[in-house]
Amino acid sequence: GKGAAMVTAVACRLVSQRKQIDEILASFELSEENLIEVKNKMREELEYGLKKETHATATVKMLPTYVCGTPDGTEKGKFLALDLGGTNFRVLLVKIRSGRRKSVRMYNKIFAIPLEIMQGTGEELFDHIVQCIADFLEYMGIKGARLPLGFTFSFPCRQASIDKGALVEWTKGFKATDCEGEDVVDMLREAIKRRNEFDLDIVAVVNDTVGTMMTCGYEDPYCEIGLIAGTGSNVCYVEEMKNIEIVEGTEGKMCINTEWGGFGDNGCIDSIRTKYDKEVDEGSLNPGKQRYEKMTSGMYLGEIVRQILIDLTKHGLLFRGQISESLRTRGIFETKFLSHIESDRLALLQVRRILQQLGLDSTCDDSIIVKEVCGAVSKRAAQLCGAGLAAIVEKKRENRNLEHLKITVGVDGTLYKLHPHFSRILRETVKEMAPQCDVTFMLSEDGSGKGAALITAVAKRLHNVGEN
Ligand code: BGC
Ligand code: MG
Repeated sequence: GKGAAMVTAVACRLVSQRKQIDEILASFELSEENLIEVKNKMREELEYGLKKETHATATVKMLPTYVCGTPDGTEKGKFLALDLGGTNFRVLLVKIRSGRRKSVRMYNKIFAIPLEIMQGTGEELFDHIVQCIADFLEYMGIKGARLPLGFTFSFPCRQASIDKGALVEWTKGFKATDCEGEDVVDMLREAIKRRNEFDLDIVAVVNDTVGTMMTCGYEDPYCEIGLIAGTGSNVCYVEEMKNIEIVEGTEGKMCINTEWGGFGDNGCIDSIRTKYDKEVDEGSLNPGKQRYEKMTSGMYLGEIVRQILIDLTKHGLLFRGQISESLRTRGIFETKFLSHIESDRLALLQVRRILQQLGLDSTCDDSIIVKEVCGAVSKRAAQLCGAGLAAIVEKKRENRNLEHLKITVGVDGTLYKLHPHFSRILRETVKEMAPQCDVTFMLSEDGSGKGAALITAVAKRLHNVGEN
């Protein structure tokens, strides 16, 4: 009768709704073929970046870091470190002891960098940084000491030596004016001069990946790769000098900051990008840039999720078809929320509560769908990151003509550390995509700060042994 017809109609609608949702989720699935292609393309782009003729236009920039030595345990002294470009800005005092009782002790303070400073003028940004350093020195009671400083600056820098680095371009949430093309060490020195209150000996500018690698290298000599899966995404690794055509010399090794976030900026992975990726890119501070980073890092995953949820809502598949003010708000899904929503132990009721906190009124069905969306997006991110990493370890294996390579990757970043599934899927993908490599992942304990201090110590030891 009529009742049965209605039930059938409702069932049909549900089936068709489910089909629409599944189609969207399926566009985030990567086949083994897809992943192999990503690995191969990444490998090609790594080579372009290393070659003289193609370096300047390569999307994976392959920036020399002038970090050639690893810590050998003889480093010692007191150092200052700055860490700019991750979730927080920090100033650290690092005390390194050498010898049999070698140890690293750290004191740090976290400072907020307000949005208007991140996106104001370069002078304001560096004045703010120096203001924070002044606060810290005051707080620690060490204003008079002219300490050597290592600056972890987590953006692409073109370096000509360990203490020089011209910012290529801002990434993530930064967009201060008059900085691109300028030397960040000069900008810091000038800001210190402007304040005219204390002096510092700026010894090294360091990418966070490099700091992470060095920190883990301090404990594990197999560590020759540094990975950040956090707000941004990037990798560095130790390369043979003879393969680095843009740096004079063929002996020894140097750490290369790949800046792999720019992978795909020439369109080479467009076939796996979805319309949501394009929307996120277009709404970002740097449209067209950092396409791989925008598919793999914490700053953007939540945005991809948000774009999908908006689309689902428009189609009446979610939130009763109502697009709320919150859902329209950029950046609501931070890594910590995604991690929380995807946590296995979380009951749906709790997912609902989290969504409620974000201003999203959901039914139980909505919560299920949101969780599925988050899962699809973070899984793809981890797989992509794994395929990229497979390209790096394979390159290292081939460099050394080995049947099998044993290697350690030093890792840091909120996505890797906080997310319930990201690290596992990443590791599984690397294993599948690079079966001849035995890859160990080592969590870095505060790589950016400690690493910058270690690099500063090594640079001091190698370059101006006399000065102390
Ligand atoms: C930057 C890299 C950095 C990475 C992780 C990217 O946006 O370009 O230099 O290593 O974020 O912080
Ligand atoms: Mg960091």
